[in-house]
Amino acid sequence: MFASKNGLKGDPRLEAISEAIRVVPHFPKPGIMFQDITTLLLDHKVFKYIVDIFVDRYKNMTISVVAGIEARGFMFGPSIALAIGAKFVPLRKPGKLPGKVIYQAYELEYGEDCLEMHIGAVQEGEKALVIDDVVATGGTLSAAIKLLERMGAEVVECACVVGLPELKGQSRLNGKPLYILVEPREIENCC
Ligand code: AMP
Repeated sequence: MFASKNGLKGDPRLEAISEAIRVVPHFPKPGIMFQDITTLLLDHKVFKYIVDIFVDRYKNMTISVVAGIEARGFMFGPSIALAIGAKFVPLRKPGKLPGKVIYQAYELEYGEDCLEMHIGAVQEGEKALVIDDVVATGGTLSAAIKLLERMGAEVVECACVVGLPELKGQSRLNGKPLYILVEPREIENCC
């Protein structure tokens, strides 16, 4: 879903969210417009807008698992989980989780990466929400969906603060809904 279809058209909170995100050209490598959400976390009002919007959307969907993707999915996921009465499950980069894990490799623009989840963290039939800060190609979210589905959970939706529409992340999600709050701002006089 593109941000314009999130049902929040005209909501002034979206403009505040968009403006609070710092866009850093050519980080971490040339050509990438990095969407830095750490500036947004410095403004508690805007940070709360994000949590409130997600909580309003998911509070009545009987979701029992909020799965956050390392690292920036950890910044939003736990607050949402607490507010909707769900558990928080971290999906981590390889070698960080101490217990028995399942892992899922996925393709990046250049190369491969992997996400891991603790076995036993979710039970068959649980309804899950996946949270991250940014969706670009959708590869990371698709790995998260696969991990949860392999454990028998039903992924209800993926939610991100920012969506990069030109990279068509939605198309990698096998039909799973994607909920996005904002698209990247245009940077004047950039580059
Ligand atoms: P992808 O798997 O291509 O959808 O990439 C999404 C993951 O990479 C997320 O965990 C993001 O945090 C990170 N990411 C990708 N592109 C950007 C970007 N332009 N700005 C900030 N983070 C990004």
